Amino acid sequence: MKSFEELLEEATRIHGHVCAGQVIGVRMCILALAKLAINDPKGADRKKLYVIIEIDRCATDAIQTVTGCSLGKRSMKWVDNGIMAATFVNLESGKAYRITAREESREVSKQYCHDVIDKHARQLEAYKIMPEEELFRVEAVAVEIPPENLPGRPLKRVRCENCMDWVQDNRDVMVDGRVLCRNCAHGRYYRLLDD
Ligand SMILES: [Zn+2]
Ligand SMILES: [Zn+2]
Repeated sequence: MKSFEELLEEATRIHGHVCAGQVIGVRMCILALAKLAINDPKGADRKKLYVIIEIDRCATDAIQTVTGCSLGKRSMKWVDNGIMAATFVNLESGKAYRITAREESREVSKQYCHDVIDKHARQLEAYKIMPEEELFRVEAVAVEIPPENLPGRPLKRVRCENCMDWVQDNRDVMVDGRVLCRNCAHGRYYRLLDD
């Protein structure tokens, strides 16, 4: 396992800037991997780890960088809850921990790094050294991951009877006896423009 500094450097490079989210994301992963006994998430252990992330903000990139889990590999699932939390699952042992960034850590960070004058810079430096208990809440959890959400070949591919788009991985919906895609069943997030 690489050091915190090495991981933060890598996360910063991939994310594009250093920020509190990179520090929080990297430290969250270090904690999660230790609890799940995963040492080499991008190498020997790469098929063991699965992450469910509850926010789409800076820390999400750090979590992807450190764990190697991603949407494209289907080893990361994004649940759009707007909560700075992620659940890390060891697919081999079945163990899982949901880790939440504590809201109070913003306030507590003021007790650290008094020599740094800028508020945001001080928070960032504080997050690097604050004890894990001050930064995170950890819950042991059980997660059912449906087979169609796991990495691997698509379990199913069907065609929407309305728009004719192909739908993979059981995301199709049956409405009045017709197989539909979610756009056709639940409404589209886009509207077509006239050329
Ligand atoms: Zn950022
Ligand atoms: Zn459709």
